[in-house]
Amino acid sequence: PRLAGLSALVTGGGSGLGRAIVDRYITEGATVTVLERSSAKLDDLVTTHGDRVRAVQGDVTSTSDNALAVSTAVKAFGGLDTFVGNAGLWDFGRELLSMTPPELDHAFDELFAVNVKGYLIGARAAAEAVTARRGSMIFTLSNAALYPRGGGVLYTASKRAAAGLVSQLAYELAPHVRVNGVAPGGMATDLRGPRSMALDDTAITDVLADADSLSRYSALDFTPRAEDYVDSYVLLAARRESRTVTGAVFDISAVGTPRRPDLPV
Ligand code: NAD
Repeated sequence: PRLAGLSALVTGGGSGLGRAIVDRYITEGATVTVLERSSAKLDDLVTTHGDRVRAVQGDVTSTSDNALAVSTAVKAFGGLDTFVGNAGLWDFGRELLSMTPPELDHAFDELFAVNVKGYLIGARAAAEAVTARRGSMIFTLSNAALYPRGGGVLYTASKRAAAGLVSQLAYELAPHVRVNGVAPGGMATDLRGPRSMALDDTAITDVLADADSLSRYSALDFTPRAEDYVDSYVLLAARRESRTVTGAVFDISAVGTPRRPDLPV
């Protein structure tokens, strides 16, 4: 196993990409602590993984919940090697002009609190423990961190901000901690939106035209599942596989290359 003995903390590890990372990390020999809002999703994790996992119910926008998640990982598994900032909200592609000024005001605060502040206070909470283990941090970005139309302007700006955080933290936490970003493309998950936009009860799966609609954005003409994106998270966490890598953003979205015109639409 590539992550034997490693202790990781994954935020938003209850479903979608985060859950796929947790499952794969455990398969690769790691132990994992999960900070997640949904207790139902956490119950399922514990049923599946038993004492290889620790569940912390809480909110990534809370400093004390992040601190509790880090101390839980340290107590249960003897330290923390890898912090994966992953919990996020989407804006369902809402364009600037479709929002009233008050909607914009509230949605900004809510979405940036999770997608940007959540990553920052998570990194702050984990920094000492990860430094002590000469470990690494990995942040989930998106094709939206690099290209337009992966969301609306709020989501796109939040993911570009998170890419900035990766770049600066790689500098600030060097030489002992590597900090990298992973930019996956679309996948059918439980990804929700801000309550202030009345999008907290809608998931991205609810708005996809059909199971294969995401393949239309990819040069590779296939619809990835969350599991298809997790290899980069293993590579970046593994001690001997990415020793030279920090401040990098892995674009694994396949949307930066135009689709061949002869592919089906
Ligand atoms: P998801 O909703 O299935 O998983 C996110 C998890 O985070 C959920 O279990 C949710 O309960 C939890 N969460 C949300 N807000 C939280 C909070 N404030 N505190 C604690 N937990 C919270 O969605 P996903 O698609 O797996 O999203 C994971 C990451 O992948 C996000 O950063 C998202 O922006 C990114 N991403 C998703 C897509 C996509 O198409 N689904 C594409 C690119 C990037």
